[in-house]
Amino acid sequence: MSDSRTFAIVGAGLAGAKAAEALRAEGFDGRVVLLGAEPHRPYERPPLSKGYLQGGADRESIYVHLAPWYAEHRIELLLDNPVTELDRRGHELVTGDGGRLRYDKLLLTTGATPRRLPVPGADLARVHYLRSLDDSDHLKAAFGPGTRVVIIGAGWIGLETAAAAATAGAEVTVLERAELPLLRVLGPEVARVFADLHTDNGVDLRCGVTVSGIRPAAADRSAVGTVLLADGSELDADVVVVGIGVEPNIELARSCGLGVDNGILVDSHLRTSDADILAAGDVANAYHPLLGRRLRVEHWANALHQPLVAAKTMLGQNATYDRLPYFFTDQYDLGMEYTGYTDPDGDDQVVIRGDLDAREFIAFWLHHGHVVAGMNVNVWDVTKPIRELIVSGERVDAARLSNPDVSLTELVRP
Ligand code: NAP
Repeated sequence: MSDSRTFAIVGAGLAGAKAAEALRAEGFDGRVVLLGAEPHRPYERPPLSKGYLQGGADRESIYVHLAPWYAEHRIELLLDNPVTELDRRGHELVTGDGGRLRYDKLLLTTGATPRRLPVPGADLARVHYLRSLDDSDHLKAAFGPGTRVVIIGAGWIGLETAAAAATAGAEVTVLERAELPLLRVLGPEVARVFADLHTDNGVDLRCGVTVSGIRPAAADRSAVGTVLLADGSELDADVVVVGIGVEPNIELARSCGLGVDNGILVDSHLRTSDADILAAGDVANAYHPLLGRRLRVEHWANALHQPLVAAKTMLGQNATYDRLPYFFTDQYDLGMEYTGYTDPDGDDQVVIRGDLDAREFIAFWLHHGHVVAGMNVNVWDVTKPIRELIVSGERVDAARLSNPDVSLTELVRP
C-alpha cells in the first residue's frame, strides 16, 4: 500500500458498496473504510419489495458482494455502528461505539428513512415500514392466505407490497389519499393502468381517503386491530404496511454545516460545499447538467451509477454525473421501466404508443414537443432509443411518436 490516505464512506448500502468497488477499480490502494448502521453487509433494496418479498429470490442473491469480497479488496467494513458526529475541521468521524476515524476524503451515502404515519396508533405492533432487509423478512413472514393486510400509501412501496401480499393469498386493501395511485408521478391516464392492475388482481383499492388513526386489537392491546378512516369507515387488519415516502438522512451533513436542501447539496461532480466531502445515492440532491436543475433521485439505478463518479472525483479525476434517471417495477404480470424526468407540477403532454387496456405500451412525456421521459410497460428493449430520444433534444411529432409502425430509432434520427 503506497497511498497513505484514508477514504471513508458513511452508509453501507448499494451506493456505499459500489463506491468502495469503484475506488479499487480506479486503482486507489490507500485505506477504504465503509461504515454502516445496519448489521447486514450491503444489499440491494429492489428485491425487498419484489422477488425476495415474494419468496422467489434467495437471500444470498440480494447482497451487493459476496462476504469475502470486502477482505479480498481490503475494504474495512464496519457494520452495526452508525456515525454520530462529523468533525470537518479535524477530518474526523465519531461512531456510535465511541470510535474515531480520521479521513482524507469522505463520501456520504446515508440514504433515506421512511416517513412516519402521523396518526394515533401508528406505533402499534404489526404496523410495518419497508426499507430494510429485516423489514422485508418480517413482512414475508406475515403475508399468507387470508391475512388481512392494509397498505397505507399507493406509491412504489405500497403497490409492490400489495402485489406481493396478494400473490401470497392475503386479503389486501390499499389506501391512497390522492384520487389514483402514483398520480403525481404518472398523471391520470397512466396512473389508471396501475389502479386497474391492482383491482383486477383482487386488491381493494380505496383512493381519496385519509387515515385518521389505528386502534389496537381487542385480544392484544399492543398490536394493530383496526384502521380508522376520516370518513368514519373502519378496516380490520392483521398487518398494516405504511409506504408514504421517505426523508433523506441529512442530519450528519446538517450538523456540521454542509449545504442541505431536500438532501445534501452537491454539484455535478457530487462534491458538497466542503472539497473533501461528497454525497451520492438517495441522499444527494445533485446538479444534473443535462436537465439543468438539481435532482434528488430515490431509485436503485442512481445508487448504482453515481458512486463511480464520486470515486473518480475523490481521486481528483474530472467526472460528471449526467445519466438520466431510470427505474423499474414488477407487479403481478406487469413489468415496467421508466427513463427520464418529468416535473410533477408541470403540464407535460402524454403520448401513448400501444394499448393501455392490454397493459402493453410506451408512454412518453413531452415538454414543448421534446420527449423528457418514457415509460415502457410490458414492452422490452426500448430503453436505449427512449434515452436517445430524450438526449437528442429533437422536437418530435406526437402522431409519429404514437404510431407503432414508425420505429423509435427513426424518430431519433429523422
Ligand atoms: P413514494 O413512491 O414517494 O410514494 C408515497 C405515496 O404516499 C405517494 O403517493 C404520496 O402521495 C403518499 N403519501 C405521502 N404522505 C402521505 C400521508 N400522510 N398519507 C397518505 N399518503 C401519503 O414512496 P414509497 O412508496 O414510500 O417508496 C419509498 C421510496 O422508495 C421512494 O423513493 C420510491 O421511489 C422508492 N422505491 C422505488 C421503487 C422502484 O423504483 N420500483 C420501489 C419501491 C420503492 P403524494 O405524492 O401526494 O405526496
